Amino acid sequence: MKPFIVIFPVILFCCLLSAKRPNILFIFSDDHAYQAISAYGSNRNQTPNLDRLANEGMRFDRAFVTNSICAPSRAVVLTGKHSHLNGQLTNGETFDGSQQTFPKLLQKAGYQTALFGKWHLKSSPTGFDFWEVLRGQGPYYNPLFLTSNGNRKITGYTTDIITDRTLDWLKNERDSDQPFFLCSWHKAPHRNWLPAPKYMSKYDDQDVPEPATLRDDYQNRLSPASTQTMTIGKHMRDEHDFKLTPPRELNDEQKKIWNAAYEPKNKAFREAELEGDDLLKWKYQRYAKDYLRCIDSVDENIGRLLDYLDQSGLAENTIVVYSSDQGWYLGEHGWYDKRWMYEESFRTPLLVRWPGSIKAGSVNMDLVQNLDYAQTFLEICGANQPNDMQGRSIVPLLKGETPSDWRKSIYYQYYEFPGYHNVRRHYGMRNHRYKLIHFYMIDGWELYDLEKDPNELESVYGKPDYEQITAALKKDLSRLREQYQVPPDNRPLPAKIKNLY
Ligand code: CA
Repeated sequence: MKPFIVIFPVILFCCLLSAKRPNILFIFSDDHAYQAISAYGSNRNQTPNLDRLANEGMRFDRAFVTNSICAPSRAVVLTGKHSHLNGQLTNGETFDGSQQTFPKLLQKAGYQTALFGKWHLKSSPTGFDFWEVLRGQGPYYNPLFLTSNGNRKITGYTTDIITDRTLDWLKNERDSDQPFFLCSWHKAPHRNWLPAPKYMSKYDDQDVPEPATLRDDYQNRLSPASTQTMTIGKHMRDEHDFKLTPPRELNDEQKKIWNAAYEPKNKAFREAELEGDDLLKWKYQRYAKDYLRCIDSVDENIGRLLDYLDQSGLAENTIVVYSSDQGWYLGEHGWYDKRWMYEESFRTPLLVRWPGSIKAGSVNMDLVQNLDYAQTFLEICGANQPNDMQGRSIVPLLKGETPSDWRKSIYYQYYEFPGYHNVRRHYGMRNHRYKLIHFYMIDGWELYDLEKDPNELESVYGKPDYEQITAALKKDLSRLREQYQVPPDNRPLPAKIKNLY
């Protein structure tokens, strides 16, 4: 009897504690443009399950990244620190997993942490009790997973498999007495956009609307916009991007399905012998359709997770977060890829559902960044936020109470040059109306008045009407660089590429 008297209150206390602490399911995709989510007003596709999250939760319309590229964004999310402090400036470095990250702090706070899917940081995941991740970028089909218990290859479509494994863990592998922080991180819709068999023919009988800036001529801006190598018309590759031959990663059975869907389309293309603008139109359609087909699988799999949360009774006490490692150009400015501080890749989707705390169907217009995710998760889970993290918890925003001193401007810096797509290094700031960009290697500035020019087609830097505002923005930019401890000297250029400037 005596041990019962002692143990019972302890168990009761633990039960009450775990009942109060919410779970978090963090669904993260790779290169998902907000322009390809119907909740964000897409005119190109429908995403009913992402819309469900928006309708039942909060949509952030001014969510941005700090450095628009895959591995650096993930490092910012994990550490709550800008790239120059977490060490992941480009995709080239190996993430230092020995540093402080929010999953480690959640573990200490009594959460079980698990990760399935894309990781892309070279070093093995740290801070997760269980992990099963793709090697590097990972393929769309038949992925090899590196796991905390050895490697294994699974046959099938990667987006489905990541969800299968996330669900397996939820159903059978976790400790149901402990709250969880669960990551389901997709490879999709990263280049080179291989759809699942069921979506290979979707959109065949329709045209995807073109963005207004597909034929951008890059006038009225500095040279970097025109010296990049990421235009759909010039820089995509026939086999790799347009799939005029079957992708190499497919097995024989998958290849048969692929050929049945794509060979008639490819035959029609070859026979048409398109040129000039007709060829650009075809390239955009092929690219956009394959991209959207990959989104269809992401959306479908989000639906599977949401359905399971409902069926299992977990939905009530599980916060669901959807975001992407950055935004993406779905033809805007004629581009694919990301990297720029221009709006489409600087912004990223952010949808959060939190029953009982977020007003269903709300929209937030405050300036938030992926820098804020770590501290947000820590606050939700009742863990301390370390002083050296550089973001700010968005929990008050989620509850509909924006603090009066919430930030009015944000900082951005991109470093990966020389590198893929020749996007020059730049840094800058954005507030609710203006964006100031410094291409510091050529010491050139651009200024955009987003109210008058939302598509960013004309830099007004140096125009007489903007002198006063430019001076104020430069002052604010200096303040941000100081606040975030950005080193005054940027990395020197290797001698062999100095002559590119
Ligand atoms: Ca990415």
